[in-house]
Amino acid sequence: MKYVLAIDQGTTSSRAIVFDNKGEIVASAQQEFKQIYPTPGWVEHSTEDLLGSVVAVVGEALVRAGITAENLAAIGITNQRETTIVWDKGTGAPVYNAIVWQCRRTADYCEKLKKEGFAEKIYNKTGLVPDAYFSATKIKWILDNVDGARERAERGELAFGTVDTYLLWQLSKGKIFATDYTNASRTMLFNIHTLKWDKELLRLFDIPESMLPEVFPSSHYYGETDALLFGRPVPVCGVVGDQQAALFGQLCTKRGDVKNTYGTGCFLLMNTGNKAVKSQNGLVTTLGATAGDKPCYVLEGSVFVGGAVVQWLRDELKMISSAGESERLAREVEDNGGVYVVPAFTGLGAPYWDGSARGLITGITRGTTRAHIVRAALEGVAYEVSDIVEAMQCDAGIKLSRLAVDGGASANDFLMQFQSDILNCEVFRPKIAETTALGAAYLAGLKAGYWKDEEELKGLSSQKCGFTPHMGEAERIRLLSGWQKAVSRTQG
Ligand code: ADP
Repeated sequence: MKYVLAIDQGTTSSRAIVFDNKGEIVASAQQEFKQIYPTPGWVEHSTEDLLGSVVAVVGEALVRAGITAENLAAIGITNQRETTIVWDKGTGAPVYNAIVWQCRRTADYCEKLKKEGFAEKIYNKTGLVPDAYFSATKIKWILDNVDGARERAERGELAFGTVDTYLLWQLSKGKIFATDYTNASRTMLFNIHTLKWDKELLRLFDIPESMLPEVFPSSHYYGETDALLFGRPVPVCGVVGDQQAALFGQLCTKRGDVKNTYGTGCFLLMNTGNKAVKSQNGLVTTLGATAGDKPCYVLEGSVFVGGAVVQWLRDELKMISSAGESERLAREVEDNGGVYVVPAFTGLGAPYWDGSARGLITGITRGTTRAHIVRAALEGVAYEVSDIVEAMQCDAGIKLSRLAVDGGASANDFLMQFQSDILNCEVFRPKIAETTALGAAYLAGLKAGYWKDEEELKGLSSQKCGFTPHMGEAERIRLLSGWQKAVSRTQG
């Protein structure tokens, strides 16, 4: 019997999941690791924790599945994106902790880049806006601040990688130095049109080209893991950044397909096929995974506060005792009673881009209850998502026909039904919620011949839960205009 193993190296934990030929989960294991906050706004991970937790969960998942590495057809790796590691090519030893995507230490430098007029050039090449989030300025920070790092880099002794690259290197004992298109497209050094590292940007950020890994398709034979690690060598045939993994795991492989992940924040990705769409609304353009040799283009937008508003109701307002209770309360009232919650806790993102905005509850009357506020908070998440979908449709000139969903808060049936109503389109929730790991497994399994083609994958994932819109047009327009009014009052 053969299986495919997905390694999901995330921001707070590492997971390994064993999938069978039907795309069903056979066993999984998970390990959390420490978040390091050296000073406010800075976030790091220990590279030993990242690697150690990955090796541990792979071993545990195999034991739980009652199999050995012998039974693995392939491994697929998916990972937290943008997080930056620099290590010595000779010893494999990192020169600094992993600088996590959330880390803001280079925010001032990014502001300076914008002031100096580099934003357009960077956007035209990479599809990204200059931000501390992406890898480029984190690499520069390491070279500028770690003793001797720049000299060693210039002598060709240091390697840079996102987490996928670091894992590939370590799991192959230095034999594989590679990344995939989706991860490369998040570094702010990769030209998404030529599909090459961009020499001009490397000069701008003062990063030697010798540090960079080779870039391959997401579904590709990368090489084998070292024999000593899991008992025998296993081929790695899939590498993909987490959001693009979820897009592929949802089988959003056609132009116009959209998925949204409802986690702490929300991540929306629209497949725009072989066309890189320029956004007029501040969305980023990035590369998506395909089963073939060429990546697809993707429009990406995020909502800063998604499921986090439910945590806030629970932990700060103490209106609910569990996230699940929000659904029961929302259903206790017939409608929002005129109440809107705009969860702009850290400002408004796309398409408003107002960092000075703050959260607001509007329309409170003497009759407003806790249930109205909880309902309005859930509805607020759906409106935020709807705003981004609107921006994507506008940018791409594509009308959304259905939304594929995953992530913790997608378990909320009330939220999913309301989302469907407000978007006036179908919302599909797959039976397997682990779409990120599934996407990495699919990409690896396709390359290894474990699955034949996408058609076969479509046949596997038939069990889904669908929500279809029931709301009338007049009601939708009335609610959306109420939301717009509430948003306008949070601004400035
Ligand atoms: P992350 O990967 O960002 O940690 P998850 O996908 O695990 O996020 O989702 C966790 C989020 O989902 C939390 O913010 C939580 O409040 C929210 N959540 C979980 N269950 C529900 C639910 N039934 N209704 C609404 N929100 C929920």
